Amino acid sequence: MTVKKEVYHQLDELKQALRKSRPMLFVGSGTSTVIPFHSDELNQNSEVVLADLSQLPIKIESIDSEEMAVRLSGGTTWLDLREFANLDNKEVLTWPTEELALVLAGLATSATGERCFGYGTLRDQVLALRYLDSEGVEHRLDSKKKLIDHSLFSSSPAREWLSRYQETYRHYQSFKNAPFPRLEKETDLMIGFEGQLGVITEATLKVQAKASLTYLLIECPSWLEDDNLHLKIFEVVQDLRARVSACEFLDSQSLSYLPKETWNQTNKDVIYLELKLHDLEEIYEVLLERLPILNENTVFQVDEIKIRNLRMAVPRMVADLNSRNQVTKLGTDIQVSEKDFSKLLSEYRTLAHRGVRFVLFGHFGDAHLHFNYLATREQRESCLQDFETLYSRVRSWKASPFAEHGIGLLKKNYIKNFHDEVQLEMFRYLKTELDPKNLFFPQGFMSGALK
Ligand SMILES: Cc1cc2nc3c(=O)[nH]c(=O)nc-3n(C[C@H](O)[C@H](O)[C@H](O)COP(=O)(O)OP(=O)(O)OC[C@H]3O[C@@H](n4cnc5c(N)ncnc54)[C@H](O)[C@@H]3O)c2cc1C
Repeated sequence: MTVKKEVYHQLDELKQALRKSRPMLFVGSGTSTVIPFHSDELNQNSEVVLADLSQLPIKIESIDSEEMAVRLSGGTTWLDLREFANLDNKEVLTWPTEELALVLAGLATSATGERCFGYGTLRDQVLALRYLDSEGVEHRLDSKKKLIDHSLFSSSPAREWLSRYQETYRHYQSFKNAPFPRLEKETDLMIGFEGQLGVITEATLKVQAKASLTYLLIECPSWLEDDNLHLKIFEVVQDLRARVSACEFLDSQSLSYLPKETWNQTNKDVIYLELKLHDLEEIYEVLLERLPILNENTVFQVDEIKIRNLRMAVPRMVADLNSRNQVTKLGTDIQVSEKDFSKLLSEYRTLAHRGVRFVLFGHFGDAHLHFNYLATREQRESCLQDFETLYSRVRSWKASPFAEHGIGLLKKNYIKNFHDEVQLEMFRYLKTELDPKNLFFPQGFMSGALK
């Protein structure tokens, strides 16, 4: 046994733990799909302290500034934050499907979710962050300040490295997450680095006034037989981004695993849209007008509770099945550009015909779908080989292989091929400056740069 768990109940306990200079892997709710927190695999990696942040005191407060905002710290989950905002007549702009994940961990993983379609990334909703360095000292980062003006980049070589890095990021500007973190604003220093540069202790996030929401559900034939309608819907929803906050997909395979009380129709795929109640009629009409194949039997309004149950049921069912089969998750997290969406569907179709059980679901409007094999232990190796081939295609399309769930340990071997010397040089520099003893998640994706 090489992993030692420590739980902190106060920030001071965490600061003291940091000052002991030991390798640490932070853990929030442990819902990461790329770190096997609940399996023996973690123990094989090295000696680390599993630093549990979930019991740090929860604090959430509204901030009166020019922008509507909330400040939060400790073990605040997305559910806590949504409930707090709701009571204050506000709404949060990011909704990852797993509501029990911690918000601060979500910054570390650069979490996204359904509402990214209408409201952009969590990264862009951050106004300020606080983090602890490897000495346990707290620092503040401000999203209004450019990273290039931070003291870390005061030397000419460092400024030049950063400019080169930012140049390579430009291609991925419209993606939720690129194969490497953004590094444009000061706050980006902690976002998407998965706890490899410091531990995030507080965040100030933009919110907005609460609106009454509703949902439109569209039934489609299975994408395996015919994806024409899917692709047309994809095209139409791009023009509705200003008024549709989420556009999600669950294929008929995913739905077929759900209990009848959650969903009782199994041979159709569904796409659902989240929108403001006052936009309902107009959006409905646009859909029927631009997609004449649809009618009142294939597009209908559903309530929030039904959608909330549906959206959480599928990824949880996948997690349950995998744990029963004793296999780690075999799922993709690929986002492609709009022009490559039909290519992605066609690659997934090839995988679907391999004879292994599978499901397809996710963030349809963002061309970001999770294909999951529901493999047995015996099938696992060949599924991994399929993914290897798939990631080489993704690389040739210059798409994003892991747009939301991060790299962790499980995707580390795949991401290597997406990093060139420009990124490795920056990772080396940041690690040397911010974590010189390499104590923060030393096995993370930046470790490749340190060899
Ligand atoms: C059913 C299901 C649905 C999901 N849906 C989504 C989704 O819609 N969108 C999405 O983005 N993800 C999703 N995920 C993945 C997961 O929930 C996210 O990656 C989430 O951000 C992890 O939060 P957590 O509190 O569980 O963090 P953990 O899993 O405990 O940790 C995740 C990573 O963050 C680091 N970390 C944690 N806290 C801090 C901190 N304070 N400072 C620095 N580093 C830290 C950890 O070391 C680790 O590397 C889903 C997972 C499941 C199981």
